Amino acid sequence: MVPAPFTVVAKRQDSFDVWTLELEPASGEALAFEPGQFTMLATRSCGEVPISISGDPDRPERLVHTVRAVGLATEAICAAEPGDVLSVRGPFGRPWPVRAVEGADVVIAAGGIGLPPLRPAILQMLARRERYGRIVLLHSSRTPDQLLFTDELEQWSQQGLEVQVSVDSASPEWLGHVGVVTRLIRPAKLDPGALVAMSCGPEVMMRFVVAALLGYGVPPERLYVSMERNMQCGIGHCGHCQLGPSLVCRDGPVYRWSELAPWVAVREM
Ligand SMILES: Cc1cc2nc3c(=O)[nH]c(=O)nc-3n(C[C@H](O)[C@H](O)[C@H](O)COP(=O)(O)OP(=O)(O)OC[C@H]3O[C@@H](n4cnc5c(N)ncnc54)[C@H](O)[C@@H]3O)c2cc1C
Repeated sequence: MVPAPFTVVAKRQDSFDVWTLELEPASGEALAFEPGQFTMLATRSCGEVPISISGDPDRPERLVHTVRAVGLATEAICAAEPGDVLSVRGPFGRPWPVRAVEGADVVIAAGGIGLPPLRPAILQMLARRERYGRIVLLHSSRTPDQLLFTDELEQWSQQGLEVQVSVDSASPEWLGHVGVVTRLIRPAKLDPGALVAMSCGPEVMMRFVVAALLGYGVPPERLYVSMERNMQCGIGHCGHCQLGPSLVCRDGPVYRWSELAPWVAVREM
């Protein structure tokens, strides 16, 4: 529960309301983490919020977070400048099953700010590219200027990631796909027998991705999603993030769809 001070050492603006901050621990002790885990992050002026780690798990000496400014706490975090100190608790939560799915084809479906929580999984798989079959990234955002990590997408595709991008709407200069992310699934010609899916983004998007993949015959045990709920303690004590019989901070945020299906069918669960 005791927060540790981390200093902002680098900052980059990714889109009009998203920033990536790189932090170093005041203690000098690297924060080892697994892809998909999050920290409870806070500035001096605002309360803690859960934010996924978007950095490279093989380089834990820098803690990287990519944050969309949507309210008081995230605006304060995004306003932090190099030299400022943030408080960090964690890492917390159940990670993406990156090691467990070695040998499989992996499709990653990320909507908007859902890509940063998947970036560590992408980096870890690309660093061990020979251990996987196809790795396909389907990434969507509302508009082209909200696409994240565009400079890295090209680099990742040279490392063996099949990248498909789509936007909900665009001006005529945009030559890529227009439409929801599920439209990218059929052209990707995925093999349901070999496939594992990892999805993060708005809940409605993940539900459509899951429905499409179930329709192709991918079993629910091989579909993983990352759930967002209001969190406070991050360690399974306060109960704010209850989802059915589970607590998202402790038992998630990454779940198999086979675990979630009975609960998410219940209205307002
Ligand atoms: C496990 C986990 C990992 C997360 N990882 C990230 C991450 O890597 N990057 C990131 O930017 N956010 C992430 N979030 C979401 C982040 O925690 C919330 O955006 C944050 O708690 C909002 O706090 P606030 O005080 O800034 O806004 P609030 O004042 O609490 O909310 C402001 C307004 O924004 C809306 N809102 C809240 N969250 C979101 C959202 N995610 N998207 C759009 N609108 C929202 C609220 O409904 C409200 O209307 C994660 C959440 C969880 C549970």
